[in-house]
This record gives sequence, structure tokens and C-alpha cells, in this order.
Amino acid sequence: MKKLICTFLIVVAGFGVLHAQEYPVEILTGKVDVTMEHDLSGVKPEVVSAFLKMQEAAAAEGIELKVVSGFRNYQRQLEIWNDKYKKYRKEGLTPPQAVEKIIEYSTIPGTSRHHWGTDLDIIDEAPDEREKVLDPEKFEEGGPFYKMKLWMDEHAESYGFYLVYTNAPGRKGFHYEPWHYSYAPISVPMLKAYLAQDINEIVQTADLLGGQLLSESFLEQYKREQISDINKDLID
Ligand SMILES: [Zn+2]
Repeated sequence: MKKLICTFLIVVAGFGVLHAQEYPVEILTGKVDVTMEHDLSGVKPEVVSAFLKMQEAAAAEGIELKVVSGFRNYQRQLEIWNDKYKKYRKEGLTPPQAVEKIIEYSTIPGTSRHHWGTDLDIIDEAPDEREKVLDPEKFEEGGPFYKMKLWMDEHAESYGFYLVYTNAPGRKGFHYEPWHYSYAPISVPMLKAYLAQDINEIVQTADLLGGQLLSESFLEQYKREQISDINKDLID
């Protein structure tokens, strides 16, 4: 029996090491160089092939799935954060208000699921809608992406893609994003590896506008809500 337990512990420890090797902190925080040649640059090959299959099936129903945001590295997320911070400050928000406003939809650099190459923001190109496409109302009845939304509700999960930021009542964290899908077979273990990291070490405030506001308690809450309060099917 003792030997059995011992073997079990070695196997479990082995998995831990595997996880750490498979998803090093550079990968989890987007600190990698990727040549951005097309929509799916930097997206993991397994995710690309699942997406292409789903795209083909949707096309047969007159829905043209298009990825508007796939992989995003740390530097790009830093630019998004700082641009939004400047914009909201210019509009008259106080520094804490600006930060709260940013984290309705955008992440602190180093904490985006788009760093992982597993998550895609998807719209339908068929209705020829080009402006402000990531608007939840456009996915509601009467909106240009409603047909896609219904199709995705029915089929996306069978290809491995799950909505991350659902409209489940009482869910905290990022607002409802009917466009943001995650490829569960890879993102579930990646989130697990991510949550094992110390968020205080991951978040580097030096280049971040408003970074001084991201205290330890702020980050604890951010980890609990923004990172962890997601679709229950995506968290172990
Ligand atoms: Zn997204």
C-alpha cells in the first residue's frame, strides 16, 4: 500500500513538472515574439484546425466566421491598456475610475487570455458590418451577428469553443462578451497553470499608466473576479 501511495505521489509530482514545463510563465503572459502575418498568427495549431472546421460548417449555413482578435502579446496589451487609460483620463475620469472602466472589457498586460493562443474574438463577416463590431447589442435579436450567435450557441462547444465571459446572472469580472470564445481542451489546463502563478509577480506596474493603483488587494480581487469568474466549463 505504501508503495502504491508513493508511486501515486511520484506520478502526481511528475504531472506538476510537466505542467510547469509545458506552460512557462513567458507563454502564460504573452512575452513571446510572433510574426503577425494573418488573423490566426500565434494561435495554437490545434486551435486553428478546430476553428477552421467550425468555420467550414458555419459557412454551409451562410455564416462567415471571422477572427477579429486572436493571439495578442504582452506589448500589444500594454499599448491597449495605456491608450485606454489616456483616453478615459482625457474624458475626465479620475485615475481609479479610469482603471475600473478599463477592466470592464480589457485586461492588465500579462493577464489576457489572448496571450495564450487559445482564445478568439469572433464575428460574422456575412452581414458586412465593419464599425464597432465588438458591441454586445449586435449579437442580440435584430443585430447583425444574431444569426451567428444562435449558430454558435448550438454548435461551438462541439468544436471545443466555449464563451468565456457569459451573461450568467451574478457573474462578476469582465462584462458579457458574446464574441470571445476559448478552446477549452487547451485553455482549461493553461488557466490551471496560470492560477498557480503569483499574480503580484506577473503584473509589472512600471510601464503601466495607473499602475500604482494595482495594489495587492486590488490584484487579489482581480484574480478572483476578472480571471476566475468565467464560464464554469472553463475552470477546473
Ligand atoms: Zn477577447
